[in-house]
Amino acid sequence: MASSGGGGKRGTGTRLVQAGRAKAFTGRFVNPPVVHASTILFENTEEMLSGKAPYGYGRRGTPTSRALEAAVAEMEAAEGAVLCPSGLSAVTLSLLAFLDAGDHCLLPDTIYEPGRHFADTVLTRLGVAVTYYDPTLTDIGALLEPRTRVVYLESPGSLTFEVQDLPALSAQAHKAGAVVIADATWPTPLFQRPIELGADVSVQAATKYLGGHADVLLGAVSANKEAWPRLKKAHGALGLCAGPDDVYATLKGLRTLEVRLRRHESSALEIAGWLEQRPEVSQVLHPGLPSHPGHALWRRDFSGSTGLFGFVGRGWGRAETARFLDALTLFGLGYSWGGFESLAVPAMAEKSRTAVPWKADGTLIRLHIGLEDPEDLKADLLAGIEAARR
Ligand SMILES: *Cc1c(COP(=O)(O)O)cnc(C)c1O
Repeated sequence: MASSGGGGKRGTGTRLVQAGRAKAFTGRFVNPPVVHASTILFENTEEMLSGKAPYGYGRRGTPTSRALEAAVAEMEAAEGAVLCPSGLSAVTLSLLAFLDAGDHCLLPDTIYEPGRHFADTVLTRLGVAVTYYDPTLTDIGALLEPRTRVVYLESPGSLTFEVQDLPALSAQAHKAGAVVIADATWPTPLFQRPIELGADVSVQAATKYLGGHADVLLGAVSANKEAWPRLKKAHGALGLCAGPDDVYATLKGLRTLEVRLRRHESSALEIAGWLEQRPEVSQVLHPGLPSHPGHALWRRDFSGSTGLFGFVGRGWGRAETARFLDALTLFGLGYSWGGFESLAVPAMAEKSRTAVPWKADGTLIRLHIGLEDPEDLKADLLAGIEAARR
């Protein structure tokens, strides 16, 4: 769905409330209807054959899906956006849309692991060469080949939170004729809009903060003017679409994105700073902390931080890690993040790195700081740390 543009001067809270609420989608209602549809009926043969009906088939769009596409495109400052049934399918669509047999792509070593699995299995099978690169590189000139068609970024990186120099890498990629795709799930379009910084395509696992309630699987891919036609075509060709209930839940999540993220942000910063002072913690990986190696870049290219970061338990092995995690009562032990609830997982970064091996003096734990009171979360973490020490 192409965005109508405009509204860019207003504040983000206002835009989050207004986005995707054109009368064409909602009628007189505040929210669009949840349209469950495969077949859409035409007025007559002429309309059917003209291809000019506003809606032709459920897979290709309904008022519900187009409302969210328009909202995402507006928040991403994109020409248009498409929806996918999961964040991972948004990642794979973005790659399939721009890569052909014989092409080469550059992926950061910190790419979301199932994306790496897709590249190592499906992309290579289709004849695409894949190179993983150190995400902290600011010069990828030596890695760019004449056949490099895609440079992919994810900043900060999955599990280890390296911040990438998106403007510099985009400029180098464009000079070499490559398309730049950025997975910006961590910042959400509220805190970083990759297309404004030089990327061609922005990927969102809407499952995380856009949905925001741990009850939805959804992805979105947005593109600038040059990349949009190719993205739109690939999305249609692959038959991707999202269920109307998930789309509706994500539209609701979007309205409260800013108030939720501000709370995630302040609680996570408070807890990250507190953890950094603990003798049992050897490292805290949060780009918003001045101690983070990517802090200056983060300050330059992001307008906020969210609730997801990591820390290393000093000398923690499997036993200490299990005692820590099992003692937590407010932090759930489970995958994904971006919901209202706090989560903790052991992050096995060493298992998925090939360009830059991950080394630390203990287990890396990834925390998602939810909307609970930060004092309660600190008390919970302290109980976990004490259990690990025993
Ligand atoms: C979770 C995640 C995805 C995949 O999202 P799903 O909806 O779980 O498929 C993609 N990219 C990043 C950075 C993620 O964190």
